[in-house]
Amino acid sequence: MAWPSNSPEAVSNEQWDDWQRRFADSDAEAGFEVTRDFVPFNQMNDMFTRAFWDPLVRTDDTDAFFASYRMEAAPRRAGGFSQKDFALRNAAWAISDIISDRSTAAGLREGFQGAIANDTPVAPMRADLGNPADETAEIKALARMFGADLVGITEIDERWHYTHRPDVRDMTPVANELPDGITHVIVMGHAMDFDLVETYPSALAGASTGLEYSHEAAISIQLAAYIRNLGNQAVASMNDTALVIPYAIKAGLGEYGRNQMVLTPEFGPRVRFSKIFTDLPLRADSPRKLGMATYCNECTVCADACPPKALPFDAAKVGSDSVSTVKGVKKWSADCEKCFGYWAKIKTDCAICMRVCPFNRRGGKTDEFWRCLALEHGARGRAMARKWHARKGMRARLKPSEWWARLKEGRNL
Ligand code: SF4
Ligand code: SF4
Repeated sequence: MAWPSNSPEAVSNEQWDDWQRRFADSDAEAGFEVTRDFVPFNQMNDMFTRAFWDPLVRTDDTDAFFASYRMEAAPRRAGGFSQKDFALRNAAWAISDIISDRSTAAGLREGFQGAIANDTPVAPMRADLGNPADETAEIKALARMFGADLVGITEIDERWHYTHRPDVRDMTPVANELPDGITHVIVMGHAMDFDLVETYPSALAGASTGLEYSHEAAISIQLAAYIRNLGNQAVASMNDTALVIPYAIKAGLGEYGRNQMVLTPEFGPRVRFSKIFTDLPLRADSPRKLGMATYCNECTVCADACPPKALPFDAAKVGSDSVSTVKGVKKWSADCEKCFGYWAKIKTDCAICMRVCPFNRRGGKTDEFWRCLALEHGARGRAMARKWHARKGMRARLKPSEWWARLKEGRNL
């Protein structure tokens, strides 16, 4: 079955009314404002996909960026960009790469431009799972046992599913399919290493991204295999198939920030997400109002720190000039072309806007006090938290040489 209708054209009144009936209440709880000109996103327009077919994005730099992940790194003298730094980054990606490479001959880049293929079939007999509340608690505990740091559950919402994905053999659009009968999404969060993130921007820091993609590939494959062994559908997914941010927010894991990331109470924006599409009868979580998006309204630390000035300074709004922004959703939208242009220039991913966010904290007593001030004492508390962060909270980038020195001494583990 093709899901959704594979038409990037305007949404019919019938479809819109159905979405309103099903999602208006939880959208309001989540703080989503979806307008009538909304259309589901076509993955062909995702920046990483455009870098392979769109002459407005593809350059020698973007080609070299991707090649640098495949043994064609271009080490340089700047700290954090040596051959050793690129080597660690690329090694961290290795498990994710094995999964994403294994079906490219069939046009799928699993985990990125296509869901992760099922390695095991669905068992012919369905296990007796008891009531949905118990089963939900058990599934969450198992997700954590496999290694997830956060887990939430929400109902399937096809608005966030890509209308098409690219066939990576020739970068043409093809149907984005899921099995029939999928009802829920299990969303898992994977916290990135604090110390590695402190070294952004650097190739070394990119190891924190690669590590979590490798972890999430393993964890989502394992949990999906468990569910299929119970006799239920389970499709493991990383960045493919659907936009994960709205799913993570609906599953109660965090709020949307100015830096385009989900801000979580536990790790701030320092987290990656994977998901499993399933027909297991589960109990959905509710979105949570945590106060972090409210803090973003008055903070521009991430936008100030962004080297190409790709993040917005003004209020969230509907739409942008870029085809890489989903249409008809009120939100902060980056200038994706500027952001990815910077990544291509430095030949590695950038997450300065993650590193500098005041909600990216290690988690000591002072951090807890700051968080309480920022989130639980209204406008006055937020103003004090902002002032405190500006005076005492800004951390300089950790020098990659210092990270390696600490590694030798066993201090950054
Ligand atoms: S740096 Fe400030 S504005 Fe940016 S995401 Fe974090 S809290 Fe929000
Ligand atoms: S990832 Fe880097 S370039 Fe992109 S928005 Fe964040 S700070 Fe700016």
